[in-house]
Order: sequence, then structure tokens, then C-alpha cells
Amino acid sequence: MPSTRLANLIDGRLQAPRDNRWLDVYEPATGAVFAQCPDSTSADVDAAVQAAQKAAPEWMATPSDERARLLHRLADLIEARLDEFAALESRDSGKPVALAKRLDIPRAVSNLRFFAAAVMAWDSESHAMESGAINYTLRRPLGVVGCISPWNLPLYLFTWKIAPALASGNTVVAKPSEITPCTVALLAALSIEAGFPPGVLNIVQGRGPTTGQAIVEHPAIKAVSFTGSTRTGASIAAAAAPHFKKVSLELGGKNPAIVFADADLSDEHLDTIVRSGFANQGEICLCGSRLLVQRSIYDTFRERYLERVNALRVGDPQDAGSDLGALVSREHFEKVMGCIQLARDEGGRVLTGGHALTPPGRCAEGWFVAPTVIDGLSNDTTTNQQEIFGPVVTLIPFDDEAEALAIANGTGYGLAASLWTSDLSRAHRMGARLEFGIVWINCWLLRDLRTPFGGSKQSGVGREGGAEALRFFTEPRNICIRY
Ligand code: NAD
Repeated sequence: MPSTRLANLIDGRLQAPRDNRWLDVYEPATGAVFAQCPDSTSADVDAAVQAAQKAAPEWMATPSDERARLLHRLADLIEARLDEFAALESRDSGKPVALAKRLDIPRAVSNLRFFAAAVMAWDSESHAMESGAINYTLRRPLGVVGCISPWNLPLYLFTWKIAPALASGNTVVAKPSEITPCTVALLAALSIEAGFPPGVLNIVQGRGPTTGQAIVEHPAIKAVSFTGSTRTGASIAAAAAPHFKKVSLELGGKNPAIVFADADLSDEHLDTIVRSGFANQGEICLCGSRLLVQRSIYDTFRERYLERVNALRVGDPQDAGSDLGALVSREHFEKVMGCIQLARDEGGRVLTGGHALTPPGRCAEGWFVAPTVIDGLSNDTTTNQQEIFGPVVTLIPFDDEAEALAIANGTGYGLAASLWTSDLSRAHRMGARLEFGIVWINCWLLRDLRTPFGGSKQSGVGREGGAEALRFFTEPRNICIRY
């Protein structure tokens, strides 16, 4: 039996699930169980909602600067334990510890600090009328809100939701993924140390269809901010609709990276293009999994690209030299291997990778997949239409701008695109026509937390980031005064 049992945070206390039921938590690099996570029921969710309701009036009335102070304090406590958080995130998710230390945990700290600052700088709108009246807008917190996050960037995406929810005066009932619950459990303990009043932040661990569903369906929860798969997003939207709940849905993607012959393909840019496909084992919703390359440079680009992909080191996530670690679960590993087989069945040519890997030593039973590049598939194949969410990139040639646009937009998803060109006019033209919520030009994953973040089509509804998130978690009230 593993020594670590995680706890829920309800009403300011760490506690076991009421039914005393537990889920095994696996270390993807070894395939072994290393912790247990509460398998909470609707009774746990109900207790959390009651605590959040009780705490809501005082938290709403707490001045923004005090709420911001507590968020800063939590950020400081996490930052002080950066190494511990990074090691735990890596162990829980399979990602390289170096990545968790460089990206996940610092970004979680930034999320908390960013929204602490953003709420202090948030303006109220006013509209004067020539007829002798003035309108101003109050933005009131919603009350109790639900936040549900996925496994790929566990602490990063969890804090991206709870920070704006808390900063804008809501009390929260939140659930991380049951596949990667560990760093959020550590955050729960630190939130008590930071001094958040009991009931302001509640964390209920457990499975999606039970614990998650109970959060979504609870009548006292006024809004649900969700990041995860498109399929779950659809079921959440359906469950929330009869209650007229606000929902923010950040869902899947099938993102294009588009390389024109006139692009500056410096080593730095090529490295970024490779990273855009394989960072975090390709388990980032923003990864460019369809790499569109102008035909005139296709052959030379492919050789340079493959050389770099072949140089990626897959291995023990604890090893500082590993570029890629393990996939998050056996189930996901099998899904990705199935997608590679499907690509072969559809007539794809596997240029590199295409197989599982077995690093020596302690990782012999882990869920590792070699970085895989496939070409020879048209854009309408299942491989190029469905989200794989693994270290798999397909290469697709195109002739001109019109064809690149048609291929890029020819997907049910609309999350992110990246475009590589030295032609400024083309960059603006394409930027306006690519049907994606985020378009990066000559860069990828360059994030300014003030910008709207999210996707269109099957990639989601609503936007996170900056004022968008603060707006989501508040209800506007117009006050009109005649003078
Ligand atoms: P998932 O949908 O399986 O689970 C996400 C979360 O929802 C988990 O906490 C899960 O327990 C919970 N959940 C599952 N079923 C539920 C239900 N019926 N009711 C309420 N909650 C439920 O997604 P995942 O596999 O954890 O994450 C991978 C997916 O997330 C990918 O599709 C990826 O593209 C997407 N993602 C999107 C973004 C974005 O910003 N758009 C960011 C990261 C990941």
C-alpha cells in the first residue's frame, strides 16, 4: 500500500473522503502506484459547497487588496518550495522535472501573482449620456464557482482558474484531474498556511463522472470554468444549461504550424518548431500537431526537421538530460499507440519514431513513446482530424497561401496556429483569416497573461486571461443615475 494518501480541502481543513474510498495514483515513468487520491462523492462536494456558501458573504466584502495579499502569499509559499513542487509534478505526470521547474511551477506562481495584480488594476466602465445621466458598471462576484482542470499542466491550469475566481471575490470548489492530483493537494495545504479563511478555497479530489459531475450539477454553483477534452466539455455544457450556469470551456485542438518558404529558418526557429510539436510529450493543447510546409522547401525542411527530432532524448523524467518523459497513463499511452497504428493503416509513412520506448533501469515499465513524424496523409484523414495529444506530428505540403489556409482551417477545432514567414503583409493577412483563438507568428507559446486565451469551434467557448477571466467570474450591474 502506498504511503501517501492525499486529502480534500473542505472548510479550511484537510480531510479524507466521507466514504473513505481511494483511487490509485501512478508514476507514469515506472508504471507503479505511489499515492492514493480521494474518490470523493457528491456528499463531499456538497460539504464543500456548503462551506463555500458560508464563506461567500465575508469574502465578497473583503477588500481586493486583502484578497490580492493572500494570493501573493500563496505564490510565495509555492515558490519557496519550487524544487519539491517540480519533482512531484514530474513524478505524477511523467513530464521532465526540468520542464516542471522551468515552466509548470513558475507559471503557477505567475498565475497567482498576475491575478492578484490584475484585480487591483481592473477598471470599472462608465458611460455618460448627453441627455443628463451617467451609467457605471459594478462587477459583482458570482458567489460559489466551480473550477475543473486536466492532467497535462496540473498546477499551471488549476491556478489559472482559481486565481481569477478568488481575486474577483468568489469562493471556489475546485477539482484537479484524478490522474495528476498531487501538486494541487500540496497547494491545498499551503493555502491554509497562507491564511485563506475557511471555505474560501475548497478542493475536492476525485473522478470526473462522479466528483466533477457533482460540481457541475450542484445548484448552488453559479459558474463552471473547465479545461479538458471536447467530449467532456460537451457533457458539461449540457449539464449546466438547465441551470443557466455560466460556463467557460477550454477544450481540445488540432493545431497547424505553417512554414512558408520565405520563413527565417534559423536554428532557433527550427528548435521552436520542434518544441511546438513535442514539448511535454506533445501533451499540450497548444502543440502544433499538423506541420504544414510549403512544397518548394518541403524536402530540405523535412531533413533538417527530422535531424532535430531524432536528437530529442526520451528518458527518465528525473534525468536533467531528458527532453521528453513518459505519457501520463497506460490508457493514454495505448490511445497514442493506437493513433500511430491508425496513421499507418490510413497509408501514412512513419519517418521517425512510431514505437514505444523502454528506457533502462527503473523506467522499464513506464509509458514512453518515441517522437513520431508521419507524412503522406491528406488533411481529411482521421489522423489529421482527431486530437492525438501525444508526441506525434504529421507533415503536410502545400503550394500557396490559399491552400495553406484551407488546410489549416480544415478542422473542427480552432485553438491555436503558428505561422512562420518573413513577409509581414502575409503575416497580417493570414492572422486575420486563420480561424483560431490564438495565432503566433514566428514564435510559439509566447504568453502575455493579459491577452485573451482560448479557442473557437470545438476548441471551446469563452476566453480566459486578463480581464476576460475577471469578467467571466463576475456579473455586471449597470447603475444609471439621472442628474
Ligand atoms: P478530460 O476531459 O478527460 O478531464 C478534464 C477534467 O474534467 C478532469 O479533472 C476530469 O476528472 C474532469 N471530468 C471528466 N468528466 C467529467 C464530467 N462528466 N463532469 C465534470 N468533470 C469531468 O480531459 P483530460 O484528458 O484530463 O485532458 C486532456 C484534454 O484537455 C485534451 O483534449 C486537451 O486538448 C485539453 N486541454 C485543453 C486546454 C485549453 O486550454 N484549451 C488546455 C489543456 C488541455
